[in-house]
Amino acid sequence: MTKALIIGGGIAGAVTAMALQKAGMESEIFESYPTGADDVGAFLVVFANGLEALRVIDAQAPVVEHSFPAQRVALIGSDGARLGERPIAGTEQGAGLGPRTLRRATLYQVLHTEAARRGIAVRHGKRLTGAETVRTAGGTRVIATFADGSRAEGDFLVGADGLHSVTRTLIDPAAPRPRYTGQNTVCGYTRDADVALPPETYTMIHGSRAFVGCTRAPDGEIWWFANIPGTELDRAHPPAAAPRAWRERLAGLLADDDTPAAAIVRATDDRIVASNAYDLASTPTWHTDTMVVLGDAAHAAAPNAAQGASMAIEDGIVLAKCLRDHPEPRRAFVAYEQLRRERVEKVVAASAGLAQRIASGTSGGRPARADGAERGGPGDGNWLTGYRIEW
Ligand SMILES: Cc1cc2nc3c(=O)[nH]c(=O)nc-3n(C[C@H](O)[C@H](O)[C@H](O)COP(=O)(O)OP(=O)(O)OC[C@H]3O[C@@H](n4cnc5c(N)ncnc54)[C@H](O)[C@@H]3O)c2cc1C
Repeated sequence: MTKALIIGGGIAGAVTAMALQKAGMESEIFESYPTGADDVGAFLVVFANGLEALRVIDAQAPVVEHSFPAQRVALIGSDGARLGERPIAGTEQGAGLGPRTLRRATLYQVLHTEAARRGIAVRHGKRLTGAETVRTAGGTRVIATFADGSRAEGDFLVGADGLHSVTRTLIDPAAPRPRYTGQNTVCGYTRDADVALPPETYTMIHGSRAFVGCTRAPDGEIWWFANIPGTELDRAHPPAAAPRAWRERLAGLLADDDTPAAAIVRATDDRIVASNAYDLASTPTWHTDTMVVLGDAAHAAAPNAAQGASMAIEDGIVLAKCLRDHPEPRRAFVAYEQLRRERVEKVVAASAGLAQRIASGTSGGRPARADGAERGGPGDGNWLTGYRIEW
């Protein structure tokens, strides 16, 4: 049986393994973390296109079960005025499933549980450091090497190793690095804010110095995120006092506005995490004869359009479909790139535009639609959330 080595046990890795199994191929996942992902972590939204892609591999139900819905976006200006309300992209006219919110770590766990239930092996503590292609009488094989000195051999290697992908640089040592967008994304969770938020709604607050989005989970907890300009954080050594420092800094940025945002942030305890917002507009080379990248390893959007996870899911399923239809990996990789490149780069560009408008404050009077549904944005014309994969 054809065997894939999948590098990275995140969203793209788990989905690709399940999709390859559906296509009749065997996979082994190699994840650098010693255990499963389990942090306070950011939360994310999976839109209708991502959910429909999960349906192809019968993995939609567990994601829906562990997440909660949102149907609408309400927009508030820095003076507290309501600027509008509308359905979130993908929910209009009963067009399909609305977006689902869950923690990133929960999505990882749900997908891993589902992959394990299907007999897919996940090897933890395996950090890819190198890979070589070997020619055999029957074709080509790939041998991966890991930081612990071990090796693994397969018919092809899928780099699902995220934003700072090693596979991407093995494929092309000159591949561009992710670009820091100049924004920090801060996420928090609180049960203690005495603030009225409408149900199943993302309230987007265009503060004068920071943009905040929040929603209420069914158990009453408020989940919020903020985009604020700032310097790139040291990814390897986050400062120990981070939650308190972020709370104070953000509350200060929100203090002059007449919105509920400052009260929400002040009511949050230490469950605050901050990260850098990066993007990766275009990776010129996605594959060799035996290796290919997908998800954030190939393209990454600033978080504003909230489509990175959905794109990673779509990628995994389209790649598996191409490998099913073109038994020679190189031809499958060419077909996959043809089907995916234009779409994912359009999402990255749209998200960067959205981030830019929020950062420059030009969204103030006429708010940017932060779920990506604005005209000219990723939700326009239903091209984004209306996308469906025919297996
Ligand atoms: C703050 C924030 C908010 C976000 N919000 C949203 C949102 O609302 N909606 C949305 O769709 N997306 C959102 N995203 C983006 C989304 O999380 C990513 O696009 C998505 O996780 C990409 O999936 P992936 O599988 O490609 O990469 P990842 O999920 O990053 O997985 C990569 C995996 O590879 C492993 N790995 C890395 N290097 C190696 C190596 N050398 N060897 C072995 N394993 C390795 C990593 O440990 C990791 O498990 C957000 C991101 C951030 C930071």
